[in-house]
Amino acid sequence: MEITLLAPAKINLTLEIKGRRPDGYHEVAMVMQSLELADTITCRLRSDGKIFLEGNHPEVAWNETNLAWRAAWLLQEVSGVKLGAEILVEKRIPVAAGLAGGSTDAAGVLRALNQLWNLNWSREKLAELGARLGSDVPFCLYGGTALATGRGEQIQPLPALPQHSLLLLKPPYGVSTAEIYGLYARMGRSQQGQTERMLAAVRTGNWQEVARHLANDLEQITLALAPDLKELKEAACRAGCPGVLMSGSGPTLFALINDEAQDQELAQRWQEAGQVIRTKTGLPLPLPGEEQM
Ligand code: ATP
Repeated sequence: MEITLLAPAKINLTLEIKGRRPDGYHEVAMVMQSLELADTITCRLRSDGKIFLEGNHPEVAWNETNLAWRAAWLLQEVSGVKLGAEILVEKRIPVAAGLAGGSTDAAGVLRALNQLWNLNWSREKLAELGARLGSDVPFCLYGGTALATGRGEQIQPLPALPQHSLLLLKPPYGVSTAEIYGLYARMGRSQQGQTERMLAAVRTGNWQEVARHLANDLEQITLALAPDLKELKEAACRAGCPGVLMSGSGPTLFALINDEAQDQELAQRWQEAGQVIRTKTGLPLPLPGEEQM
């Protein structure tokens, strides 16, 4: 028996840093949005309790350090199930890009094994376990549009926005999320109130309103390290793109696309700077137990 599902990437419509917590993490408020861009996860049942992982991206370690493997192991440990799985990850989401690639693979494995192992855990229970793997894992169990608070692991689903086209630019380098937060702690400044304003915009269901309120406190830090990207963002804004922002700690930029002409023009400019991906915003994920077999 096996199950195959899509594990979607995410972007941040906001990333607001509220302060530092006693546990060393930053307290954040973020409006998150899933994308159609996704990795494919296949889990095949094993009766001997062993967990195997394979994946197609040469720069990722497909061993016990991989978040997908750790997700399977943790679920097996905590649930006490005696079954195992062969896990296959087909990556399309760029790595170390600010798109939650590793986190969504972990969430995808939790969703798939919850069903394959007949655990029938609720989404809330899976999210609590997922938070032990990484702050972005709980959101990746929900998809759609959601508010994330705490260190990012507390999820409140929001009314789904209508689907919208996007262009992504992933430059040929990655950044370390920990390093960007470290630099922010030394020199960053927060645009307080951005998430409240975005929540009001999301409630209108209007992407023009959303575009006006895109904001990310980490963007200033990552763009200072990547002046080429800063220039590309400014050029896109000058050319009339209403919504261009860095996702997460970057370095991926996304642009909300309104028409074909804008798409063509921006894709042409961005192609010289890295990998350009056309995608759309995604819808909420199915509830646990309703994954396709
Ligand atoms: P986030 O947006 O959550 O900060 P990211 O998109 O910036 O994450 P990832 O693609 O998750 O970054 O990769 C970050 C690191 O995690 C990389 O060094 C990568 O090798 C490691 N990693 C572990 N498991 C995976 C996985 N399944 N897919 C991709 N990267 C993984």
